[in-house]
Amino acid sequence: MEKDLAYWIERGKEMSANRQARIGKAKKWKFDTIATHGLYDANEALSLNNGSIMEPVYLSPAQAYENSAEMEAGLSYQMPNWCYSRIANPTTYFLEETSALLETYGTDIRATCLATASGMSAIRTATDPFLIYDKKFPNPNIVTSAKVYGGTFQQFQVRRHQEQGLDVRWVKEPEKMDEWQNLINENTRFVYGEFPSNPTVGIFDISKVAELAHNFGIPLIVDATCASPALTRPLTLGADIVVQSASKVMGGSGTSIIGLLTSKANIISKIGSEEMKQDFCTWTKLWPFRDNGPAVNPMAAFMTLNDLRTLRMRIEKMSHNTMLVAKYLENHPKIDRVHYPGLKSYKAHDLANKYMELADNGKNMYGYMLAAEIKEKSSDSSENSRKFYDALKMTWRATDLGRVKTVATLNAISTHQQQGEEGRAIASIKPNTCRISCGIEHANDIITDLEKALEKIE
Ligand SMILES: *Cc1c(COP(=O)(O)O)cnc(C)c1O
Repeated sequence: MEKDLAYWIERGKEMSANRQARIGKAKKWKFDTIATHGLYDANEALSLNNGSIMEPVYLSPAQAYENSAEMEAGLSYQMPNWCYSRIANPTTYFLEETSALLETYGTDIRATCLATASGMSAIRTATDPFLIYDKKFPNPNIVTSAKVYGGTFQQFQVRRHQEQGLDVRWVKEPEKMDEWQNLINENTRFVYGEFPSNPTVGIFDISKVAELAHNFGIPLIVDATCASPALTRPLTLGADIVVQSASKVMGGSGTSIIGLLTSKANIISKIGSEEMKQDFCTWTKLWPFRDNGPAVNPMAAFMTLNDLRTLRMRIEKMSHNTMLVAKYLENHPKIDRVHYPGLKSYKAHDLANKYMELADNGKNMYGYMLAAEIKEKSSDSSENSRKFYDALKMTWRATDLGRVKTVATLNAISTHQQQGEEGRAIASIKPNTCRISCGIEHANDIITDLEKALEKIE
């Protein structure tokens, strides 16, 4: 048989069908099994990878083709292939497929995923396509929770608003529906929230906000980095797109900067083509992402895939530790306040119970991050906070989170420094806010370290 264009297109159809069959099979597995195996099976290993039981790491920038007809089929996207590592890569593919399965775990929802060079580029890549020029909606705005990661605040406020004139509307108390309602209008392009937010663990009602957005014909995009799909899967709750900084808990050992965006089939949007809406991540990968270029290094994708296998177990242990630390700190005389969704004192505790549950366990768990406010003599002081912070011995002083190692951060002087005092006030970040991301050490050792450091405050 002549290997002409028709031949390769036919082969492409077989490859797609085979891939869909493997997705169907993996959909029946439990969370940990999906996380461990994804779409990589013995068939794949024996036919393509010398039998290696681990996924291959393809560092090659480009794919070679047998003949010009295969190249034509491949580069016109008429067969599943990877072409060039700025567009796609076989190693990255296994991470993306695993993430898509985990983000829709427990449902029949089909999703696709796109890995990017960082969490920030995942947010940019997820939001760009909704901000294109459209003369029917000439004055675009976006509605976003103000309780977001510092980098996200800067991307929206400086890059989008100050530099490009986009109307960015901040929801200051995202747990309340009326603010969202008041800010959305016919010119809103998308709605954005973080669940829970970094660092003050603010949350919002994902399903209700999704419904509101859909009533306006626009998508809800959720950053669920601080929950991870082991606890909260926004796509199964109504959201259209979920973004993850996989630099954090998904890649918990801490080897890589990497982002993931995952979309479900047929997202809601009044902007963009039908093709884009049908499969947002694939469309984005093949078109704007390819042109803009924030591709991830395949080695980072491989390292992240390795960490992802143990995600649920780590989240369980980290949530357990964080709960103990939160309770310890809440009762400590030198602490003003602790923000943690698992505490009864947390104002949206019921909402947290609705949306945060460890996969395949049925128990509410609340993740690895808490924010503690250290008692100070005045509201603008950070003297005691610094004393405590500088006395930490085992706990790392770093701007990092989701790590297997416990890390603490004074956010006003680090992650949220650039946004200034006014910006921090909108996001409820105070000079004495200390974010603690609990690792997988024994809880007693974490608490002992915090206890000794708190003793340094007179
Ligand atoms: C860290 C973080 C980001 C940014 O991710 P990078 O991988 O560092 O670019 C985005 N959102 C949240 C919630 C984060 O914690």
